[in-house]
Amino acid sequence: MMKMKRLVVLAALLCVCDGVTFGQLCSGNPGNSKRLTDRWGSGSYGAKRGNRIHKGLDIVCNDGSVVYAPFDVTLHGKLIVYNNQDYAAINEGINLRGSGLCFKLFYVRPDKTTGTVRKGERIGVMLPMQSVYPGITSHVHVQMCDKSDPTPYF
Ligand code: ZN
Repeated sequence: MMKMKRLVVLAALLCVCDGVTFGQLCSGNPGNSKRLTDRWGSGSYGAKRGNRIHKGLDIVCNDGSVVYAPFDVTLHGKLIVYNNQDYAAINEGINLRGSGLCFKLFYVRPDKTTGTVRKGERIGVMLPMQSVYPGITSHVHVQMCDKSDPTPYF
């Protein structure tokens, strides 16, 4: 029994965040489907954005959908995505931590910005992306705090 406990503690310390998988992020997308290529680009991590690189992974989410906590999370404040008023309609997001991961969700209006939310509970609403990027596959952008690739967690 002791031995087993020690193993569990060890695994937690190593935070082999291996095996950590995001729960459903958006109502209407139970499998966390990724944004493929549309007229505005690809939703993959590392995709080209002009001469920049896409530092997140885009998960399909229709405008106005409810966004859920993908883990038991703590909320660490609102974020501003763009430094440009042209994007005001979608210029919100939230900083989160959960399951050993530090990450951000873009294009979400959070219900609240501090405290905790249980996995599967509502954290906010998807903003009207079509009004800024007509024809895009509307999506939540998932970005790790260290800008590493979130794809292994999906
Ligand atoms: Zn993105």
